[in-house]
Amino acid sequence: MSQNQKFVIANWKMKLGISESIHLAKAIKKIKSNVEVVVCPSFASVVEVRNILKGSKVKVGGQDCFWESEGAYTGEVSASQLREAGCDYVIIGHSERRKYLQETDEMIHNKIKTALSASLTPIICVGESFEQRSEGATDYVLINQVTKAIEGVDLGSDKKIIIAYEPVWVIGSGQAISPDEAEHAHQVIRQSLFDIFSPGLVKNNFSIIYGGSITSQNVGEFIALENTSGVLVGGASLKSDEFIAIIKNTQNTY
Ligand code: PEP
Repeated sequence: MSQNQKFVIANWKMKLGISESIHLAKAIKKIKSNVEVVVCPSFASVVEVRNILKGSKVKVGGQDCFWESEGAYTGEVSASQLREAGCDYVIIGHSERRKYLQETDEMIHNKIKTALSASLTPIICVGESFEQRSEGATDYVLINQVTKAIEGVDLGSDKKIIIAYEPVWVIGSGQAISPDEAEHAHQVIRQSLFDIFSPGLVKNNFSIIYGGSITSQNVGEFIALENTSGVLVGGASLKSDEFIAIIKNTQNTY
């Protein structure tokens, strides 16, 4: 993962049916960009979407995976199943899962290990709630979440990790935080990584991206930041024109 590689990652959440996912995948399959573009459909659509995007520049990711590699775990999806379905990436620890599914730091840590052993690149979501921010605890929350997620993970030189800073209260709000605030958070995250891994690993194996109400209008301000390698996009990734404009504006900015 070169320091300059930029990412635009789409989180389709549970917002599209299978035929809508197919439709959107067809609309974006012609994207040609030096930005790494990843779409994360819901599990039910992963195989269909992957089949449409095969041979294109657009990669596919899962929205979650289980921490065990196989077994009697009804309803769960393993990292190796995602890999077999053609995924290269997987989102882990999204704030919606932390909130609604009570995902703990320990579960997230174990999911990261399983994802890496299945040759998936984890996109690890971290971020503070509004209350935590109001109490001045943002830096503490970020350091704590990053450390608990990845400390003790065996990261060979071929394994990559993306950390997505997503202030929870900004997701889906239509109002992103200021780029300066994102840059500060990204510096805190990078510093936490330096406390765990060697400078060489941090430089070559980690990318830090921003997520929270990104649009084609504001993406350029975030991509221009020194410690920011891309964006995770929810709502604005569901319309092909807007998503393509985000990719174009990312490409034009760096
Ligand atoms: C997300 O849920 O990861 C996200 C970034 O959503 P939105 O872009 O809609 O704020």
